[in-house]
Amino acid sequence: MNPLDPQEFRRQGHMIIDFLADYYQNIANYPVLSQVEPGYLRELMPYFAPLNPEPIETILQDLQQHIVPGITHWQSPNYFAYFPSSGSTAGFLGEMLSTGFNLVGFNWVSSPAATELESTVMDWLGQVLKLPKAFLFSGSGGGVLLGTTCEAILVTLVAARDKVLGQIGRENICKLVVYVSDQTHCAVQKAAHIIGIHHKNIRAVKTMKSTSFTLLPESLLSAIHTDVQNGLVPCYLCATVGTTSTTAVDPLGPLCKVAKEYGMWVHVDAAYAGSACICPEFRHLIDGVEGANSFSLNAHKWFLTNLDCCCLWLKDPASVIESLSTNSVYLDNSASDSNQVVDYKDWQITLSRRFRALKVWLVLRSYGVANLRNFLRSHVEMAKSFEELVRKDKRFEIFVPRNLAVVCFRLLPSAVARIGNGRVQNGDVTTEGVANEINRKLLDSINGSGLVYMTHANVGGVFVIRCAIGATLTEKTHVIMAWKVVQEHADAILNH
Ligand SMILES: *Cc1c(COP(=O)(O)O)cnc(C)c1O
Repeated sequence: MNPLDPQEFRRQGHMIIDFLADYYQNIANYPVLSQVEPGYLRELMPYFAPLNPEPIETILQDLQQHIVPGITHWQSPNYFAYFPSSGSTAGFLGEMLSTGFNLVGFNWVSSPAATELESTVMDWLGQVLKLPKAFLFSGSGGGVLLGTTCEAILVTLVAARDKVLGQIGRENICKLVVYVSDQTHCAVQKAAHIIGIHHKNIRAVKTMKSTSFTLLPESLLSAIHTDVQNGLVPCYLCATVGTTSTTAVDPLGPLCKVAKEYGMWVHVDAAYAGSACICPEFRHLIDGVEGANSFSLNAHKWFLTNLDCCCLWLKDPASVIESLSTNSVYLDNSASDSNQVVDYKDWQITLSRRFRALKVWLVLRSYGVANLRNFLRSHVEMAKSFEELVRKDKRFEIFVPRNLAVVCFRLLPSAVARIGNGRVQNGDVTTEGVANEINRKLLDSINGSGLVYMTHANVGGVFVIRCAIGATLTEKTHVIMAWKVVQEHADAILNH
């Protein structure tokens, strides 16, 4: 057996490419949300792993027959759930090359090109985003590719913690406070938990509908005042550009100003919306980023880069390196000793790391910044069209102003009033409660059709349906069809 026989690699590799090309060709025929029941696959699979080899042909048959039905098709043009996971040929090929080389680029010497290409594309992308020079290698900072935003938050939070504890003493870890809004991604809670910050010291500052669920500087300031009076020490603020529920944009400038007064680390989580900032007309979303310590976006969300690829820029990489550097005799090398190279193992949690830069490099080169901008714009335009369709139907409302390509909408309480009438009069439920129930029912019904897939958010106690446009194959016809599906299912529920 030769598991890396070049001839077999070529033959089987071509088969898989053909399989995937057919998959993309036919993807709209599948139910977007997988309709299988829990445990479906266990019953179809043999109880034991195979002892003897099986041909790829047989394995591919099983893939089509048993695995594909259990897949939710994130690449479907009718996929509007969560945030997009926009794949592309370039992103795929970059991933393939990375997997093909299968190198482990923990430090410079372990594969100089892996490190240097990563530094290059991070500066390229940073320039396209018009990040201040302080975040780039060509300035005094630098960028790194991680797997996910969760890692970016953990990495920056560790650095922030150690910086403050260096001043007040490690025994005072129980005094550190992390600030977020009630819309911030739960990744921050998890990271704080991992690094030993008590959940009591995570301040989820309340946001309001009237200010579009953004974190207000004055609310942050008042939370900090209370904490400081109680002898606590502000450590870290995570501001979000494009929250997961409604794509709310926290005002970076004023928030950074408040944070600076208290010596806090500010991380900007722009996981979804960051990509849009390559367009001059959306760049204002990150105005004020110059006051932050770190900034991250997920290229695997809306930048045609296949999962996984989180871009993190740091103003002061040394503070992260101080917290995360490791030394082991077997890693000794003269390049590292010379201090002339980047050793990315010290910028992340794990030691081993993949050659992710290839993906970003291929995406940027294959499409060019101009096309990437137009691609993002096309999604925003489609979202505008969807929004207009919703507005025309008086049974629905747009719940919060649309920022980019996510539309949050729901059936109005007035439209569903008849259904819950008796129960509202008895005082069993409120009209808002009925609206939540019916909107949930509507969403389940839409997704059960398999024609489209959308997800929900619960903001300020209100259940809203999110239509997130950004799948690579989505065109305007799909968006119009999606709205038709929503209307038909709403008709069925309301006229029942
Ligand atoms: C998607 C998202 C995350 C989580 O991203 P991962 O890469 O899955 O860790 C964090 N924050 C925001 C705002 C997001 O949209």
